[in-house]
Amino acid sequence: MVESKNHQFHIAIVDAGIAGLALAMALHKQDVSFTMYEEAKEYSTVGAEIGFSPNGMRAINLIEPTFRPLYEEICVGSKGEDAKHIFFEGMLLEPGFGCGQSWHGDSAWSHPDFVRKSVSTGLSLRQTGAILIGAQAHRKALLDTMNKFIPPDHARFGKRVAGIEQQSDFVKLGFPDGSTATADIVAGAARIQSVVRSHVPRDTNPSQVAPVYAGAYCYRGVIPMTEGYEILGDLTDVAKFYFGQGRGAVTYRISGGEVSNYLLCVADTRDGWKSKDAVTERVRPDVVMSDFQGSDTDEAFRRLLSEAQPVRWGLFHHLETSTYFRDRAFMIGDSAHASLPFQAAGAAQGLEYAVVLSRILAELANSRNLHATKTSTIHASPGPRTTQYAVHVLKDSLSSRPN
Ligand SMILES: Cc1cc2nc3c(=O)[nH]c(=O)nc-3n(C[C@H](O)[C@H](O)[C@H](O)COP(=O)(O)OP(=O)(O)OC[C@H]3O[C@@H](n4cnc5c(N)ncnc54)[C@H](O)[C@@H]3O)c2cc1C
Repeated sequence: MVESKNHQFHIAIVDAGIAGLALAMALHKQDVSFTMYEEAKEYSTVGAEIGFSPNGMRAINLIEPTFRPLYEEICVGSKGEDAKHIFFEGMLLEPGFGCGQSWHGDSAWSHPDFVRKSVSTGLSLRQTGAILIGAQAHRKALLDTMNKFIPPDHARFGKRVAGIEQQSDFVKLGFPDGSTATADIVAGAARIQSVVRSHVPRDTNPSQVAPVYAGAYCYRGVIPMTEGYEILGDLTDVAKFYFGQGRGAVTYRISGGEVSNYLLCVADTRDGWKSKDAVTERVRPDVVMSDFQGSDTDEAFRRLLSEAQPVRWGLFHHLETSTYFRDRAFMIGDSAHASLPFQAAGAAQGLEYAVVLSRILAELANSRNLHATKTSTIHASPGPRTTQYAVHVLKDSLSSRPN
């Protein structure tokens, strides 16, 4: 890895989450100076399993090709050679899971070119022709692996950005202890309720700052695979969606196949999300259990539920985003484009933003020539949605590019 030389043009990255780290990796690769500020002292072991869809894998290759074999090492797919082409299998939440019904055994989303767990062949996607989607890596393992690409003196952990303030020729970050930092540009995600999103559309589109409740929540849990077998038998081997009326479940293997990870999802019948400033709600265990009562639900899900954390995770997204950019501040990751876990796409989109924005920032750092920026950015875009992001950012930057 090369040491950054270009110290006159400096980027502040708010957070070392997936999008923030991807941006840091991409800037470092292009020798652009940056500092990354992350609220947490270290990454939590509580977190989702992340699988990158094909756009994410392409973005990984564009950001740092040597990252991909490391990512593949920490991924785990479904069990068994027969299951390697299966993304997810659909079953029912009702007693018996739908086993024995006419469709049973034919309910998998699969494709012969699809490989759930990618292998380290060293070949590119184009060479193998494989569609890589759905292999899961634990969020902490993923973040720790990405972090290895960042020189430690570029990262400040335990530093929460509390405010962003712009001047005509720099941007200032404020921290809760009263300290400040300056940079030419700030970019960040900082979760769905984000300090960056609070800043970017605040004056032009204030109604777009707050995340929008999607009318559903989930409970999450992990159990050793031995216990998973006791509850769901060998259904646990292959990733599953279980569908019911207003409820559903998702299960898949993690941690080298030793652990079963699950989500139990509920369509909310209440009138909106109750906790004003939090996206999670701690609830009493009996309230948790009441969500999966009824003869239409297999007992297995109540057993899983009894071992889940008694916490409702509200599902939120950003329905409207008129701009990703305000002068010197850029939104990336969930602050720009929060999506629902069912889409399993937010992290991959974060990687796409990192590719595009890093190319724009590298151009600004190196030449500050807008025509050059436009050309290289569009070449760097892995897909149409990212091109839209790039064009939008560039269009806005025509009028308010830093001097
Ligand atoms: C159950 C579940 C499963 C999912 N599965 C997938 C999947 O398979 N594939 C996929 O692509 N996506 C998936 N997603 C979505 C994905 O997890 C998110 O889209 C992704 O993590 C967002 O990345 P991010 O960088 O925006 O934020 P995060 O990765 O959440 O990082 C935000 C970081 O910001 C830090 N932070 C917050 N505020 C501040 C502050 N003020 N100052 C400094 N630091 C701050 C936090 O500590 C955190 O480290 C899933 C989501 C869930 C809930």
